[in-house]
Amino acid sequence: MGLNKKLTILGGGPAGLGVAYYAKKAGLGFELLEATGHIGGNCKTITFGEFKFDTGAHRLHGKSDEVVEEMKELLKDDLREVDKPSYIFHQGKYIDFPLSPLEVFSKLKPSTSIKAVFSFMTRKRNPEQQTFKGVAEAKYGSVISDLFLNNYSEKLWGLPTEQLSPRISGNRLKYLNFRTLVRDSLFPNAKPRHMEGKFYYPIHGFGQIAEGLGDYAGRESILLNKRIMAVHHDGKRIEQVEMTDGSRANIDELASSLPLTLLIRMLTPRPDKEILELAEKFTFRHLTLICFFLKKESVNSGATIYFPSEEFEFTRGYEPRNRSPKMSPEGMTSFIVEVPTHDLGEQDKEALLEKIKGQLTGYGLFSESEIIDTTFYDIPYAYPVLRLGIEEDIEKLITYLSRFENLHLTGRNGLFEYSWTHDMLTNGKRIIKELCNGRHTG
Ligand SMILES: Cc1cc2nc3c(=O)[nH]c(=O)nc-3n(C[C@H](O)[C@H](O)[C@H](O)COP(=O)(O)OP(=O)(O)OC[C@H]3O[C@@H](n4cnc5c(N)ncnc54)[C@H](O)[C@@H]3O)c2cc1C
Repeated sequence: MGLNKKLTILGGGPAGLGVAYYAKKAGLGFELLEATGHIGGNCKTITFGEFKFDTGAHRLHGKSDEVVEEMKELLKDDLREVDKPSYIFHQGKYIDFPLSPLEVFSKLKPSTSIKAVFSFMTRKRNPEQQTFKGVAEAKYGSVISDLFLNNYSEKLWGLPTEQLSPRISGNRLKYLNFRTLVRDSLFPNAKPRHMEGKFYYPIHGFGQIAEGLGDYAGRESILLNKRIMAVHHDGKRIEQVEMTDGSRANIDELASSLPLTLLIRMLTPRPDKEILELAEKFTFRHLTLICFFLKKESVNSGATIYFPSEEFEFTRGYEPRNRSPKMSPEGMTSFIVEVPTHDLGEQDKEALLEKIKGQLTGYGLFSESEIIDTTFYDIPYAYPVLRLGIEEDIEKLITYLSRFENLHLTGRNGLFEYSWTHDMLTNGKRIIKELCNGRHTG
């Protein structure tokens, strides 16, 4: 990219900030436009009185050594390695997650264990259809899948697992098979390949990553409260973006992390009917966090507790102070649960909070008298719903957008993929590298 050209970045979540960070490193000028008054997108840390909590149970997975090194350089001693187990909550008991065969069978009723072993031994190893359900059952058998995986996934994604792509496991199934589980049970010190256990976490909350990226990239180039409403083009290039305040910015090169389908709908002139109709088929899952602030030292030692059973509307719970003690005042803790939803507006959040409070106190995680305060927090566009067969449709939309030679896509929703913070940074680096080499990256 010539030095006289300007890079415009849409969205100030980890993906947009990742592009900005690497642009700064490469000495490229940029302007980042973010709709809200804050950077961080769905990776923020919220302060509530003396407590802090993240917008979801975030951690930096050590999957990319390069990203980890980069973040260590950025956050210095504030980035710590944390070694905390995760658990599955099953009928009032905590089962280690990832599942270990010995642990699972010791916590299940003997009759269920026998059924689980039988269904594992007789499972179809090659599922007829590559659905999440088929792949999970091929790995675990139907009993374990129904107890821990299918119910959890259906709550999270809002669709039956036979209608979901195996990609919703975010690589968890790939690394969770009986061989690795037995190996991990027998050799607990072996480096775990799955995404639980050891991870990295900034001492002041996960949002420190976004803030650090923003500081490095330069706040003067990050414009807040700039909501894009239209993306003008000439069929080959994006020419301008238009904001809700009526202002417009001319575009040389554009990196967009906005939800893929939102970008399609904002194109002016509009795409063909076929493309618009295809975009309508894409859906997102949102989350509401329900937060309990507690006059209590600890609820549980786990990083994350998974609640697969249908009796709970929430999928997971986490205690921020188990990631960093600075997330709550001395002697106190908090417990945050994630409730997936199709429509943030339609939930009766007070009723939901009362119901969940009854369940958590009923199971003895904490008592009503230990609750100091509660709050809600909405996370829009938390997950792109990867229904079965969506890969082809994503390909069509991305191919359609590749006609714009100055458009570069990134982000979890921007690429409609189940990706992670480290992927956002890797994508940012790729886009900047390709821009520097003068190549299109759509
Ligand atoms: C509950 C949850 C838990 C997660 N846990 C982990 C984890 O443990 N580890 C991990 O690595 N990753 C995790 N992730 C995944 C990942 O890091 C996030 O989804 C990440 O927020 C995606 O970054 P993004 O920039 O693509 O999108 P977002 O964070 O959604 O950011 C998009 C930004 O674009 C802005 N925007 C939207 N519309 C417009 C518009 N019209 N004009 C201008 N700006 C606009 C938004 O305001 C937002 O700031 C988790 C995600 C969720 C939801």
